Amino acid sequence: MTDISHSFFEHHPPNSFAPEPSGDLGDLDKTWILHPFTPIREWEQDRPMIITGGKGARIFDDRGHSYLDGTSSLWVNLLGHRHPAIDRAIMEQLDKIAHSTFLGLTHEGGIRLAEELGRRAPGNLRRVFYSDNGSTSVEIALKLAYLLRKHSHPGASRFFSLERAYHGDTLGAVGVGGIDRFHSPFHPLVHASLKAPAPDCFLCPLGLSRNQCSIDCADEAIRIIRRHRDELAAVILEPRLQAAGGMIVWPEGYLSRMARAVREEGIPLILDEVATGFGRTGALFACELEGVVPDFLCAGKGLTGGYLPLAVTLFSEETYQRLKNDPGIFYHGHSYTANPLGVAAARATLRALDEGRFIEEIPAKREVFFKLERALDRFPFTGNIRSLGLIFAFDIFSDPSRKIPADRQTMTGIEHRAQSLGLIIRPLMNTLYLIPPLSVSVDELTLMGEILLESLREFTPEGFAKSGKMK
Ligand SMILES: *Cc1c(COP(=O)(O)O)cnc(C)c1O
Repeated sequence: MTDISHSFFEHHPPNSFAPEPSGDLGDLDKTWILHPFTPIREWEQDRPMIITGGKGARIFDDRGHSYLDGTSSLWVNLLGHRHPAIDRAIMEQLDKIAHSTFLGLTHEGGIRLAEELGRRAPGNLRRVFYSDNGSTSVEIALKLAYLLRKHSHPGASRFFSLERAYHGDTLGAVGVGGIDRFHSPFHPLVHASLKAPAPDCFLCPLGLSRNQCSIDCADEAIRIIRRHRDELAAVILEPRLQAAGGMIVWPEGYLSRMARAVREEGIPLILDEVATGFGRTGALFACELEGVVPDFLCAGKGLTGGYLPLAVTLFSEETYQRLKNDPGIFYHGHSYTANPLGVAAARATLRALDEGRFIEEIPAKREVFFKLERALDRFPFTGNIRSLGLIFAFDIFSDPSRKIPADRQTMTGIEHRAQSLGLIIRPLMNTLYLIPPLSVSVDELTLMGEILLESLREFTPEGFAKSGKMK
């Protein structure tokens, strides 16, 4: 046997450039880490914000600053940080066991959570397949839909999704994704879906009313679906809100129209509620806003209150029985499927959702959005103001009459200014949004709005109107 260790180390010297472990944390971060969805050069320029704690709608950094969490830690936190009941549930589970496999074994938390979800889920969605993030919950739905459909339609191996769709970052999910900037670098690797335009009425080239836009846009998508019906294994949609695609709030009626047509064609419908699930849109699941029950429902993010990675794919008993007959086994699973700590957090989250009046209180909290909207209307460079449940978004333009989006520098400027005033936001292209935890108080939400307004005043082109407070 040849000894390769010598030559290996010659070409791969150990990390001699690394700073001392006792060095500045920000420098250590830049030495050892690649961050997700983060421009690498920009990240290297500034000292990163290092989060050390949180409480309710606030997070704290290592310099003693306190910030309102305007994105719910990127749409995951549901009922505030350090929620006492969720904290306790995880610690109690930790006293028993942190993890054991779900392949061939089971545990009480996993069983009970499945029942609790099945009883709350819309329609006949009562069977649960666990995984550990939104992307995997989508992969699972795609695979299951394909397995079911191939009996009657052996050639059905494509999916239909929308332009500007986001279903996660694993390759199956990238295949049904429709955000060019994220997805096109990987196109050669994936099986791209059939697509129709997103129902974004603001960009409607014909300037139709929202109502007419919902009908025409759905009809266009339905035509494509019908034309390719025999090739399609499933249709996948983000109900009512395409979040990562730019916080596109669909016109009412689009979802139900699409769902009806897909059902008529007998094609499985997957609804990705990873962003919209657990109350943010004003209903427990966004599909309930239009009385739609899909064949598969994917949920993640808020499921554990934003504490731990856990996701679910829900489907009907009939689907389960069909899978039992053929193929009889689902060759898919993850090391941390139904992790007991995540399951404990999810059960405590559902209990807290039941006990609080979080969803019921959304209409009252939306009053803050209406005030913010009136204040934003006075700025000449803002537009396309929209909201759904406890989600609020608007766009910044360099030329609003021609809908020319503000550049990245402006958006980053606003983001940093908001941060310096105590609010965490994260622009999506030229869109700014607030997705606070459902537990946010009216005062906290008002303060988020006021900081946003203040940040706009500083960082938009000259001539940007001075505007009053949110009254
Ligand atoms: C975030 C998101 C996903 C992916 O979830 P991860 O947990 O980040 O893998 C999928 N679908 C939608 C709609 C999402 O918002």
